Amino acid sequence: MPENEYDAIVVGARCAGSPTAMLLARKGYRVLMVDRARFPSDTISTHLIHPPGVVALKEWGLLDRVIATGCPGIGTYAFDFGSVTVTGAPGTDEAPLAYAPRRTVLDKLLVDAAAEAGAEVREGFTVTEIAFEDGRATAIRGHRKGEPVVTERARVVVGADGHHSLVARLAGSEQYNQKPPLQISYYTYVSGLPMDGRYEVHLRPGRGFAAWPTNDNLTVVIAGWPRSELAANRKDIEGNVAATLELVPDFAARFHAATRTTRFVGQSLANFMRKPFGAGWALVGDAGYTKDFITALGISDAFRDAELCATALDEALSGARPFEVAMADYHSERDRPSLPFYEFTAQLATLEPLSEDLEQLLTAVQSNQDAMDEFARVAGAVTSPAEFLSEQNIRRLLAAAGEPA
Ligand SMILES: Cc1cc2nc3c(=O)[nH]c(=O)nc-3n(C[C@H](O)[C@H](O)[C@H](O)COP(=O)(O)OP(=O)(O)OC[C@H]3O[C@@H](n4cnc5c(N)ncnc54)[C@H](O)[C@@H]3O)c2cc1C
Repeated sequence: MPENEYDAIVVGARCAGSPTAMLLARKGYRVLMVDRARFPSDTISTHLIHPPGVVALKEWGLLDRVIATGCPGIGTYAFDFGSVTVTGAPGTDEAPLAYAPRRTVLDKLLVDAAAEAGAEVREGFTVTEIAFEDGRATAIRGHRKGEPVVTERARVVVGADGHHSLVARLAGSEQYNQKPPLQISYYTYVSGLPMDGRYEVHLRPGRGFAAWPTNDNLTVVIAGWPRSELAANRKDIEGNVAATLELVPDFAARFHAATRTTRFVGQSLANFMRKPFGAGWALVGDAGYTKDFITALGISDAFRDAELCATALDEALSGARPFEVAMADYHSERDRPSLPFYEFTAQLATLEPLSEDLEQLLTAVQSNQDAMDEFARVAGAVTSPAEFLSEQNIRRLLAAAGEPA
């Protein structure tokens, strides 16, 4: 390897990039991670981390650091669909609680862990170009503000640069399973609205909102409507959020008695998967797979994919398996478990009323705490919706509630 070449350059240093850089550096690779942002810094995203993401933090030795920031655990998920409410525990023995650390806290902690592992970290560095030789990505070009453009070479360039990924665009990664943006939501942080370790979701036809606790005794409150109403509602976000919260008057009263500490910030996301590798490049996190945030899967998925991608890259860089073979496994191990969650997420994000079948099932589930916990584990990304909604499982749940299948 030429002296000035890195094993891997990771573009983007948040939930996907930092763990990928950290895991590769821990395996002894020479890693450069760059981000145009500086840390700590916020980004447009709420930050519920479901139990599988919590397990990743624990395995990486970072969960204690998250807890030490005063971030409260979340042991109950409550889904109120109007006609039916399902309240259960999403946790497992390995991770009994979910957590929602502020991105200012979480992303800084992840960047520091990558640096501690030995990755070189350049903050405030914008990548503007990827260099290709014979169709293979070999280098990045970029610069710090006001400084000259530099070129850095690597055996592999990893795009962890979010849903607008420059690496994906320049590498020509194909998109598939695309769905348009389905809903738009706006969030704020309030003090004086205790949640007692609960993640609460309230869904009504064409409207939805959720709330859960985070650092500094604050509560995140997020509310939204179909993307088709973006233009009509954008002039009065506050009024539309207030009207949405009014759908559950008790919650609206608690919200109005609390103190808002930030303005509303909102976004809407298109849904797609991208082929996450090609000659000399790889994609991880939202760069390779973006979905609506209504199911709060992005961070947990980014952690999972960082682990899968770093394992595959280790096999390729060490020569244990050909790059194409190792990365094709990464691709299928990402997509196989993701697809049922992707469809479930898109269905919820339409904000359409529950289908009759699902309403019947959830009504049956409501009478049985074990079954409600099962549903909470689907919402918590522990159990696949494909498993929960399998014919056999539906029959079992309906029979347990004494209803015909
Ligand atoms: C409103 C909203 C709410 C959400 N709520 C949740 C939630 O509760 N739970 C959850 O799990 N997920 C949530 N998500 C999804 C979550 O934000 C993403 O899945 C997650 O941030 C993906 O992490 P990432 O590291 O892949 O990308 P990002 O967090 O987007 O990070 C990409 C990084 O790349 C850097 N970058 C980009 N281009 C360049 C460049 N050319 N040069 C240098 N640096 C570059 C950026 O500066 C950025 O720091 C939400 C998203 C939104 C929009």
